[in-house]
Amino acid sequence: MTNTNKKVLVTGGTGYIGSHTVVELINAGYETVIADNLSNSERFILDRIEQIAGVRPKFYEIDLCDKAKVEDLFNAESDIKAVIHFAAFKAVGESVKEPLKYFRNNNLSLINLLEVMNEKGVNNIVFSSSATVYGQPDVLPATEATPFQKALSAYGSTKQMGEEILEKVSSATIIKSIALRYFNPVGAHKSALIGELPVGVPNNLMPFVTQTGIGKREMLTIFGDDYSTPDGTCIRDYIHVVDLAKAHVKACERLIAEKAESNYEVFNLGTGKGTSVLEIVNAFEKVTGQKLNYKIGPRREGDVESLYAETKLANEKLGWKAELGLEEMLSSAWAWEVKLHEGTVEV
Ligand code: NAD
Ligand code: UDP
Repeated sequence: MTNTNKKVLVTGGTGYIGSHTVVELINAGYETVIADNLSNSERFILDRIEQIAGVRPKFYEIDLCDKAKVEDLFNAESDIKAVIHFAAFKAVGESVKEPLKYFRNNNLSLINLLEVMNEKGVNNIVFSSSATVYGQPDVLPATEATPFQKALSAYGSTKQMGEEILEKVSSATIIKSIALRYFNPVGAHKSALIGELPVGVPNNLMPFVTQTGIGKREMLTIFGDDYSTPDGTCIRDYIHVVDLAKAHVKACERLIAEKAESNYEVFNLGTGKGTSVLEIVNAFEKVTGQKLNYKIGPRREGDVESLYAETKLANEKLGWKAELGLEEMLSSAWAWEVKLHEGTVEV
C-alpha cells in the first residue's frame, strides 16, 4: 500500500540506477515522482517500472538546470519528503574533453535543487557520489575517511564538488543530506525488464563483456595485465544494482525518520570484495556458458590498480548489506543483454 506521507522525488529516475531504485521504493510503500530530461534514458522505462512494481510513477520531463521548471515541480508536488538526486552526466572520457558540459549539468542541477528545496522547506536529499573520489588510496579497503585524491576527470571533480556543496549547505541551512559513494554498479533487475542502456561503445567493463558475449563487439580488450595484483589485472568492487537501489531506500528512511547522526553523512556502497578483470571474464564464461573473446591490451590512462570498499559503516548505520554475488550480477546482466539483442527493448 502506498504511504502518501512518504513521497520521494527521484531525479534521473528513468536512468539505470534510478529506475531500479524507483522499483525498490515502490516495493517499500513509497510514492515516487520522477524528474528526468531523458538525455540518457528512454520513456518506455516508465512502462517497465509499472510492469514490475504495479504502480506507474508520476513523471516530469524537465531539465534540472532550468530552475523555473524545478520550482514548478515542487509547487505541483507540495508534500515531497525526500529527494534522491541521480541526474547527472557520467561519461568520464567525454567529461575530459567537454569539462564545462559536466560542470554545468552536474553542479547546476544540484544547486538548483538545493535552492528550491530550501525555498519550499523540503530538507532531505540523497546524493549519488562515486568511489572515484578516492583515486588510488594508499590503504585498502577504502573507508569513508580515506582522503580524496585530485580528480583526473571533470566527472570526478563534479562528484567531489557535489559532496562539498552538500556538506557546506547542510551545515548552514535546513538541508540534511546523505552522500552515497558507489563502487562499480553492474547487473539488472531479475525480470530483465530494466537494465543499463549504454549509448555507443561502452566504456564500462560489464556492458562491454555482455556485448562481446552476444557478438555485438568482436573482442574485449583487457586494459593491462601487468598491475601488482595476483593475476596482473585491475581489481574493483562490483555491486549489484538492485542491492544499490535498496541502500537508497534505507538512506531515505534514515533521513525521513530523522535518524541521521549529523546533517551530512557519507556511506560507501560496495560488497567489500575485490574482483579482477580476468576473474570477471572467467566468471562470465562459467555463469553463462558463453565463450568470451578477449585480448590483453595496454593499460587505460587514469585507471587505478585496485579499489574496494570498507562497508562497515553502511552495514551498521544504514542497516544495509549487499546480498547478491557475482553470479547474480553476471546472469542478470546477461539476461538483459539477451533481451536487448532480441529487440524486445525498443531502443
Ligand atoms: P544514467 O545516465 O543511466 O541516469 C542518469 C539520468 O539522469 C538519465 O536518465 C538522464 O536522462 C538524467 N539526467 C541527466 N542530466 C539531467 C538533467 N540536467 N535534468 C534531468 N535529468 C537529467 O546514469 P546512472 O548509471 O543511473 O547513474 C546515476 C547516478 O549515479 C549519476 O549521478 C552517476 O554519476 C552516479 N554514478 C553512477 C555510476 C555507474 O557506474 N553507473 C557509478 C558511480 C556513480
Ligand atoms: N576494463 C577493461 N576493458 C574494458 C573496460 C574496462 O579491461 O573494455 C577494466 C578497467 O581497466 C577497470 C575495470 O575493467 O580495471 C572496470 O572498469 P570500468 O570502466 O567499468 O569502471 P571504473 O574504471 O570506473 O572502475
